[in-house]
Amino acid sequence: MTDDAPAPESAPELAARAAQLRVAVVGAGIAGLVAAADIAALGMHVTVFEADAVPGGVVRRGEVAGISFDAGAESFATRGGHVRALIDDLGLADRVVDAAPGGAWLAGIPAVDAAPLPVGGILGIPANPFADDVRRIIGWAGAWRAYLDRLRPPLTVGHERSLGALVRSRMGRRVLDRLVAPVTTGVHSSHPDDIDTDAAAPGLNAALTRTGSLSGAVADLLAERAAQTGTAATRPGAAVQGLAGGMATLVDALIDRLGMLGAEVRTGTPAESLERGDEGWTVAVAAPQDADAAELEVDAVASDPADEIFDAVLVAADEATARHLLAPHVSALDAIPAGPSPRIEIVTLVLDAPALDAAPRGSGVLTVPGSHTAKALTHSTAKWPWLAETTGGSHVVRVSFGAQGEDPATAVLDDDGAARLAVQEASALLGVPLDESMLRGAHRSRFTQSQPATSLGAAERRAAAGRVIAGVPGLAATGAWLSGTGLAQVVPHARAEAERLRHALLWG
Ligand SMILES: Cc1cc2nc3c(=O)[nH]c(=O)nc-3n(C[C@H](O)[C@H](O)[C@H](O)COP(=O)(O)OP(=O)(O)OC[C@H]3O[C@@H](n4cnc5c(N)ncnc54)[C@H](O)[C@@H]3O)c2cc1C
Repeated sequence: MTDDAPAPESAPELAARAAQLRVAVVGAGIAGLVAAADIAALGMHVTVFEADAVPGGVVRRGEVAGISFDAGAESFATRGGHVRALIDDLGLADRVVDAAPGGAWLAGIPAVDAAPLPVGGILGIPANPFADDVRRIIGWAGAWRAYLDRLRPPLTVGHERSLGALVRSRMGRRVLDRLVAPVTTGVHSSHPDDIDTDAAAPGLNAALTRTGSLSGAVADLLAERAAQTGTAATRPGAAVQGLAGGMATLVDALIDRLGMLGAEVRTGTPAESLERGDEGWTVAVAAPQDADAAELEVDAVASDPADEIFDAVLVAADEATARHLLAPHVSALDAIPAGPSPRIEIVTLVLDAPALDAAPRGSGVLTVPGSHTAKALTHSTAKWPWLAETTGGSHVVRVSFGAQGEDPATAVLDDDGAARLAVQEASALLGVPLDESMLRGAHRSRFTQSQPATSLGAAERRAAAGRVIAGVPGLAATGAWLSGTGLAQVVPHARAEAERLRHALLWG
């Protein structure tokens, strides 16, 4: 410690100072709720403004025929342990569940139609192109072309940033189109050409140089992972878990935690602009969207106008909204291009269809891009035993539409039309006859997907945006557009940004 450093404060002094501070959080998605809870935990007063009638953002519930399910995010990636740590902290550890074994299928394969997704690959890249489950999908011609990868001189091997370019050049189009593209499109809404190899498969390029081939590199990394974890979690999507009761349980727990900490969450209250005055920040809100929210807000405003002046604002909305709110205060933000934000729709069907009892396509289906109108399907009751226990034998099937560069086919349809199309697609993808007479009901959700952390150029863009926002005192921002999409990215970013803001307010 230098002579100029302030004398350390006692815990009560710090708590007293924190209790004087007011922070506004805009957006009650997971990012906003996690950040709000961390800030409130230090004793600061937190007010969360949420545009929707319910909190949670993409982590939201749907309900059809009395059956409640996740209408948006339905699982979390276990990598990094960040989501699990949050779950443990919120007392939800006993709700963590694995997906049922069985894996997913691939549909739209020329001449084959559908087959189980091969085991033993990374992002769909096979370790052995002649393995039966791989060859069934890419055919002998595809397998021999992929085998050229083993024969090509290591000179052409090296550092290829684009996953699509790497796979195309080493193993050919069939591996790219039929194995890798379904995984990246279905899981990340992105084409492999837009995925950064180093971010999506750390170590792959180095292993490639070491082993001299892409399939050798995949085999090498899989062996390494198996040695580290003691398991061979080699199916795409294998390293995820869920919560009994649905991921929306996480939102309930965060709302409870915020209540215990004395924070206020105002739903139906969209922030329109942020203004900075001599006293601090104010959040201008649009007219509340429902009667309950209106009451809530009027009460709060009526209680004490000083409560509406904040020492800091943390913006945790989607990218377009966040940029709109931040732009007047962060002039350099305009110069940083926005990431692509594909529109996604999920139509969840509740079906009485005994033909689905045998889970004909395991936990769900990814599609070869261009082969089907739907991008992916999850047979939720086959994937999540906790859900199957609640449906009295009915099946819950989620059909996803839309990807980067392709609007959802449902976007032009009304709700009945979207449900009809989803039933047709489900029938085709699951390989069993399904029709509307089996439908107990349907639920439709619309989303804007943020760019995955693995997109080419995304890390640079995110870091640049984070830097210019951090340069404005009293302002902070988090959310999938800054962290990359996915709870395993969103949660640690929100916590880090909350910590940065707390630190700046107390010691800045
Ligand atoms: C369809 C879909 C499925 C997914 N599935 C998974 C999955 O299974 N596992 C996984 O890990 N990840 C999944 N993801 C990604 C993950 O869910 C998201 O990255 C994450 O939930 C984003 O959280 P967020 O808080 O940044 O944003 P959001 O959840 O979008 O929250 C932003 C909030 O800000 C609010 N808001 C917007 N404008 C305003 C305003 N003006 N004033 C106040 N509030 C405002 C919104 O209403 C919203 O509540 C999925 C994403 C999508 C789209």
